[in-house]
Amino acid sequence: MSFDLTSSLARVTAIAAAHAESVDGGRFPKEAVDALRAEGLLGLLSATEVGGLGGTLADAFTVVHALGTVCGSSSMVACMHYCGAAVLEKTGALDVRRAVAEGRHLSTLAFSEASSRSHFWAPSSTATVEGDEVVMEARKSWITSASHATAYVWSSRPTAAEGPSTLWLVPANAPGLSVPRPYVGLGLRGNDSSPVNASGVRVPAGNRLGADGGGFDLMMGVVLPTFSVLNSAGSLGAMDRAIAGASAWCGATRHEHLGTSLADLPTIRAYIARSALRADQARTLAQDTITALATGRADAMIRVLQCKASAGEAALEVTATAMRVCGGAAYRQEVGVERAFRDAQASSVMAPTSDQLFDFLGKAACGLPLF
Ligand SMILES: Cc1cc2nc3c(=O)[nH]c(=O)nc-3n(C[C@H](O)[C@H](O)[C@H](O)COP(=O)(O)OP(=O)(O)OC[C@H]3O[C@@H](n4cnc5c(N)ncnc54)[C@H](O)[C@@H]3O)c2cc1C
Repeated sequence: MSFDLTSSLARVTAIAAAHAESVDGGRFPKEAVDALRAEGLLGLLSATEVGGLGGTLADAFTVVHALGTVCGSSSMVACMHYCGAAVLEKTGALDVRRAVAEGRHLSTLAFSEASSRSHFWAPSSTATVEGDEVVMEARKSWITSASHATAYVWSSRPTAAEGPSTLWLVPANAPGLSVPRPYVGLGLRGNDSSPVNASGVRVPAGNRLGADGGGFDLMMGVVLPTFSVLNSAGSLGAMDRAIAGASAWCGATRHEHLGTSLADLPTIRAYIARSALRADQARTLAQDTITALATGRADAMIRVLQCKASAGEAALEVTATAMRVCGGAAYRQEVGVERAFRDAQASSVMAPTSDQLFDFLGKAACGLPLF
């Protein structure tokens, strides 16, 4: 790696941290995205030949995790950008790849639909060829950065081929796109993960990403590994934020009539120790997943499924425990763990959800087909 990720990321993280509280009020993390752009980190996964940094999935994991330790919304926006960017780097036209590499293009995924919900691999939205254009009709249920992305990596039914889906590049300013209601979330509140409708949206036929009917293979081969690893990174960021906040609070908070701190209680220490252990188990699995993918190990796809389930479930437990050990104070904002708790709720219900992952892993263990 010829770029200095550590120094760049320290600057980006400081900016994301400074704005985290106002972003939690429901404002898009513009400053963090601008900082990622200024450091070249929007082009992290783009090849050096097109002007990118030529970084790896491990580098993207580092970025998404570091942002997650200070601002869940910034972390998720980066996660979805890298997922879209990975598809564009593999299948996009040269000018689009250059735009991503140079930070002129914020990407995201537009997979989830009102009809198939978390079964993102089965869109019912349509793409109809009319001359050298394609006309889109869709009710997308969630698109992170919906009103801030440059373009969406978009799924539809194929135009003619067999197969469940085809992917497209749909500019976010295309006439016919609308946001029926803004995102108001429990956590990740600056995320702008809004629904988007498409009515008669026209894109050039050349905006197809990969083959007609080839969407499923891109979803499984490119998006799923990237998303699972980076979603785990975001969950780990929230866990680390909660553990650090809870540890600091418990060390500093005293029962003055006893002359002791909360950390003097063995039960409190054990809760914190178990949380750190749970987070480190999920971290180790995520890091092994990155190694399995980089080295083409036979169990790589099992690890991909495991790591998101592990980190997503651990994040629910660890952030709930942080709330518990900080007592009533955690219920207010003063300790700083309630935001991590709220942010951490999203991962386990983001597709593939934890329950779907357990089902897939169970099917794999029993030798059954996954789909
Ligand atoms: C903050 C946030 C950001 C998001 N960003 C994006 C984005 O940028 N792009 C995008 O495309 N999507 C995005 N999503 C959508 C996400 O990936 C899921 O599609 C969505 O959260 C699923 O919610 P749902 O209510 O539609 O799930 P439903 O499908 O209604 O599921 C409800 C429950 O049923 C369970 N369930 C469903 N099917 C099965 C099964 N086969 N086996 C076992 N259990 C099952 C689920 O686990 C869940 O507990 C985002 C979601 C969130 C919360």
